[in-house]
Formats: sequence, C-alpha cells, structure tokens
Amino acid sequence: MRQVLIVGGGASGLTAGIFAARAGAAVTIFERNPTVGKKLLATGNGRCNLTNTQMSNGCYHSETPKALQEILAGFPLQDTLEFFASLGICTKEQNGRLYPQSNQAESVLEVLQMEAAYRKVKIKTNAHITGISKTATGWAAHTADWTYPGDALILATGSKASKISGSDGSGYEIAEKLGLSLIPPFPALVPLRCMGTDFSGWAGVRIDGKVTLYGNGQKLAEDTGELQLTNYGVSGIPIFQISRQAVQTIKDGKKATLALDFWPEMDKAAIKALLERRRTDCPYKSIKELLVGIFPKKLLPVLLSQPSLPEAIKEFPLQVEGPLSFDHAQVCAGGVSLAEIHPATMEARRFPGLYLTGELLDADGICGGYNLQWAWTTGALAGTSAGEECR
Ligand SMILES: Cc1cc2nc3c(=O)[nH]c(=O)nc-3n(C[C@H](O)[C@H](O)[C@H](O)COP(=O)(O)OP(=O)(O)OC[C@H]3O[C@@H](n4cnc5c(N)ncnc54)[C@H](O)[C@@H]3O)c2cc1C
Repeated sequence: MRQVLIVGGGASGLTAGIFAARAGAAVTIFERNPTVGKKLLATGNGRCNLTNTQMSNGCYHSETPKALQEILAGFPLQDTLEFFASLGICTKEQNGRLYPQSNQAESVLEVLQMEAAYRKVKIKTNAHITGISKTATGWAAHTADWTYPGDALILATGSKASKISGSDGSGYEIAEKLGLSLIPPFPALVPLRCMGTDFSGWAGVRIDGKVTLYGNGQKLAEDTGELQLTNYGVSGIPIFQISRQAVQTIKDGKKATLALDFWPEMDKAAIKALLERRRTDCPYKSIKELLVGIFPKKLLPVLLSQPSLPEAIKEFPLQVEGPLSFDHAQVCAGGVSLAEIHPATMEARRFPGLYLTGELLDADGICGGYNLQWAWTTGALAGTSAGEECR
C-alpha cells in the first residue's frame, strides 16, 4: 500500500487524512503539538461554527477568485453536511451559522479522530516538520532528526494566525523554499488598534451597534453586532468583518477611519428629541445622568468628551492605526497563490504528488463558518486525490 504523508493535524489535515484513507491509502499525519486540532477546539468560542447555510463566493477573498470558486464547488456545503453526518455530527443553525448540536467544538474534533483511528490513520504528535523534499518515488517529510518517505504529501500547516494553537507560519517557509509563489500574508478577522484617543476609559464595554469603515473618507463597508471596546481600540465580530478591508486600506496607503453607531435603531433627530424630553422631565439631572439607563456607565465620559453628543452616539469617530498582531487574528489573508494549484485536486501544478490545503493558501473567508468550510473542502479534495493516486 502506498503512503500519503500529511503535515499538520488541524481541520484540513484531519479531513484530508480521512479522505485519503477512505480512498485506500495508508496515511500518516505529522503534528507538531502534543495533540491534534488545537485551533479547532477554540473555534466559535468553543462551539465550532463549522459552516454556513448561506454559502457564496462573495464571502471569500483571494487574488485568484476563479480558482477559489472552482475549489469551493468541488466539495460544497451539501458534501460537508453529508461528511459530518457520516461521522455522527447533527447540526443546529443560528442565522445561517451551523454548529454541532452538542454545542461543543470538542465533539467535532472527537468524531474526526474516531474516524481517523477507524481508518488506521497514523498520527505522529510532537513531530515538527522542518522541510519537505522530492524523492525518486514521491515526497519526504523531514523533522530535525528523521526523514519520512511517502508517495504523496499534503501540506496542511495552516497560516500564522493565532500561533499559540500551533500554526506558526512554517508552512509558508516550506512552500517558499520549493519556489511556490506566496501572496504576502496579513492578519484578517482581527481586532483593530486605533489612534488619537485614550481608550482605557471604555475598556470592557460590550454594546450592540454598527461600525462603518471609510477609506480616505469613502464608505467601504459596514457591519452590525456586538462591538467590544478595548484599551487599544475595538474588537468583536462586526470589527472582524470589516478588519480585512481596513488593513488593506492602510496597506494601500489610505487613511482608514471608523464611525461607531452606538444606537442604530435611533436616528440623530430622535436622539436629540429624546434628550430634550429627558432634560425637561428631569431638570435635576446632569447631562451625564440623563444618559444613565441608555448606555453602559463606562461609555458615558467617552461620549461626553466629544463636541456633539448625538454625533458621538451615532458616528463616534476613530482612526485605525492597524491590526493587532497575527497572534490575535482568527485567520490570515494571503498565502500560497491558488494559481499554483489544480482546483479539482489541490495538487500543486508544478509539483506532482504535492497537495496544499486550508489556510496556508491564499483564501480567507468572513466570520461565520466560511474558513472551516474552506478547510473541509480543500482537505476532502486533496485527501481524495492523493489517496486515489496511491491506489
Ligand atoms: C480563535 C479562533 C476561532 C475561530 N473560529 C472559527 C469558526 O468558528 N468558524 C470558522 O469557520 N473558522 C474559525 N476560525 C478559523 C479556522 O479555525 C481556521 O481557518 C482553520 O482551523 C484552518 O484550518 P487548517 O487546517 O488550514 O489549519 P489549522 O487548523 O491551524 O491546522 C494546522 C495544524 O498544522 C500544525 N503544524 C503547523 N506547522 C507544522 C509543522 N511544520 N509540522 C507539523 N505540524 C505543523 C499546527 O500545529 C496545526 O495543528 C477560528 C480561528 C481562531 C484562531
């Protein structure tokens, strides 16, 4: 039986391992951590938002959108749902986002591990692959003190987002050494550092609101949801959703600004009228006291530091300095160019027998299960193809 080697035991590596084994190959996964799937356990705040019913190519970014589209079509949502159903996962939906019925990311990892064990996939943990090389009959993976030969090799090392979970960017180095072209990675789905204000006062506030992103004053994007105010700037899902464009705006040499709307349901005139009415009804209250009952206490001094209160409530201005580091990002934009890949199989065009999956590639999705969908899709395509070739 021929061998498929997989570097990285994360979402895409485990999926690839199962599909390669189902196709008949003997599979070995190398994982640098003591356990596989560390990042998977952290997904969706421990609940694992594993995919989304509203799949569309527009939810993803890549420098090679046509290839991205073809790849996603190769193992779409329905295939993913069938795959997880075959492993034993029932799903539940919240606004299109799909989670395991158990509400635990752990169960997603567990069923992947159970199936991998049943298919006799070998998992070598504490195995940091430092390089790969082409051999006469296939590919080899190297650790500091050992070389493992195989017939096909799948690089599933992830990006360098959240390196505490194991993905330290070593996959980029391995790919670059081979000569694969790399779109420079940058943090996406990431909190934003802002300038010009002392944010310590509002740190810890969580408030439902809207964020609008402008590039040189031109509106680029907006999103609503829970805004998290921090001592460096802003975080939360709506911020993540616009963060990629904010970072790109700065990279393009433009000024990225945000307007925070802390009360989207009310327009400025309605807020002005409400405050006037409160002033009349409660003449004994200071302006700060008039706001008690509407906004969290820690937000009040910050709102009152602005020249106009209704403006501060509806369009609180912030200038983005940049993203927090890769360590704080959920995903990376950029990565190995999809132009290097056969979209039907994930095999490298210039390196037969070598496959690439997941976040290592130049594709990133918005929040909502899209990045894991990319991991399942690319893992399934690569695993099937690498495994079938080995039949
Ligand atoms: C906090 C957080 C929450 C998230 N929540 C969601 C969510 O709810 N829904 C969603 O769709 N996406 C979510 N994501 C993104 C999603 O987790 C990733 O896109 C996905 O895990 C990428 O899969 P991957 O297989 O490419 O890489 P990873 O899952 O990162 O796996 C790569 C593996 O390779 C190993 N590795 C790396 N280099 C080497 C090496 N040289 N040798 C051996 N092993 C190596 C790593 O240790 C790691 O285990 C979240 C990310 C974070 C950080």
